Amino acid sequence: MLVQTATPSSHEEDAEFNPLLSAEARFDEAANQLRLDDGMRKVLRSPAREITVHIPVVLDDGRIEVFTGYRVQHSIARGPAKGGIRYAPDVTLNEVRALASWMTWKCAVVNLPFGGGKGGVICNPAQLSQFELERITRRYTAEIIEFIGPEKDVPAPDMNTNEQTMAWIMDTYSMHMRQTTTAVVTGKPIDLGGSKGRPEATGRGCMISTEQALRLFNWKPEDTRVVIQGFGNVGGMAARLMARENYKIISIIEYDCAIFNPHGLDIEALMTHRKETGTIAGFAGGEEIDRFEALFLDCEVLIPAAKENVITSHNASKIRARILVEGANGPTTSMADPILAEKRIFVVPDILANAGGVTVSYFEWVQDRQGYFWNENLVNERLREIMVNSFNDVVKYAEMHKVNNRTAAYMLALDRVQFAIKLRGLYA
Ligand code: NAD
Repeated sequence: MLVQTATPSSHEEDAEFNPLLSAEARFDEAANQLRLDDGMRKVLRSPAREITVHIPVVLDDGRIEVFTGYRVQHSIARGPAKGGIRYAPDVTLNEVRALASWMTWKCAVVNLPFGGGKGGVICNPAQLSQFELERITRRYTAEIIEFIGPEKDVPAPDMNTNEQTMAWIMDTYSMHMRQTTTAVVTGKPIDLGGSKGRPEATGRGCMISTEQALRLFNWKPEDTRVVIQGFGNVGGMAARLMARENYKIISIIEYDCAIFNPHGLDIEALMTHRKETGTIAGFAGGEEIDRFEALFLDCEVLIPAAKENVITSHNASKIRARILVEGANGPTTSMADPILAEKRIFVVPDILANAGGVTVSYFEWVQDRQGYFWNENLVNERLREIMVNSFNDVVKYAEMHKVNNRTAAYMLALDRVQFAIKLRGLYA
């Protein structure tokens, strides 16, 4: 079981687990280090635009329901806003705001010519048919149509939205514009202007980040034991690609159990097993261990790639990995940061480690606008170049300013965005 080092009050716990507060804490730390003046802090904190729409939709049984949707454009200082659209019953404007600013920093840290945005619709996709989801998507798109576009704001999939959702948005936008405009969204099916290499991109970015961190430690993949939480798009792809490069993936942690093999798991066999049975449990190539304890296994690299708030002030002291590569968004709370720093764990923060996804989304947008599609090798090569350069930028920045990698990543991002704002000047 998960051992707690202190019993927090629910108030403290709420604050620790609130991604908005965590994002603010990191923003403040970076802004203080950069000695940003109050005016610039106000500009960088405030979203440029927030749109709320109420979407009337006829359900399959003939009833009318009204859904609420948001699109927040946090910054367009460095280029069009970029960020996903999520469908979930608990979407709030506050959450969308926090996620939009997160996208601004993520795009800036890997130096993409994008700002940050995010959208969401309050609905429960599990209770909606495909036809209902299509109508919600099309009406939501129509309601925000003046504010999106290849040069304005480029949405992408997020929680409970996918390639099909992007195809509907692209089609609705194109019908209104009277011309097919594939570059209005990314994460599209390959036959509608999607990019090769997109499904693997985030996992590949995690692998490249790991590889760069190993170089600093002088370690080789074959001597590197890796634990991965989450066997989905990010964690599954990272596991598959890293196993091919001879990393020893000693444990995969899922929501129902963890599988452990000290000699390294056969990832392809585990994928086949999960496909056939729907779970990693019962896999013959490893033993089942407690899924909470698995996070604290002795290993060189830990990749949390499932969800937010996994490494907290209550368990960070038990982490034994030397390198933490954050595949998920927000897997570490801001209160866990000092504990990891004290343990001298080398952290590749989420806004860098999982930026491979948005980087290949950028390539998709470029290819759509060029009307010329790259082969997978070229996509992967260019992704590598961006990930390696960004990793080096962050590590150098950390050394120069004597801060940890997370603070360095935020400082670099804030600095790039504020520099663009200053160069442009404030239009009055
Ligand atoms: P996914 O749904 O494909 O995979 C998540 C996996 O984690 C699933 O297999 C799920 O069963 C497992 N999981 C859920 N709760 C768990 C728990 N408590 N313990 C262990 N396993 C659990 O999602 P994804 O696309 O891989 O995204 C994972 C994380 O990465 C999210 O935080 C997401 O925001 C972030 N992310 C994804 C991308 C991308 O390109 N997909 C890009 C950047 C960041």
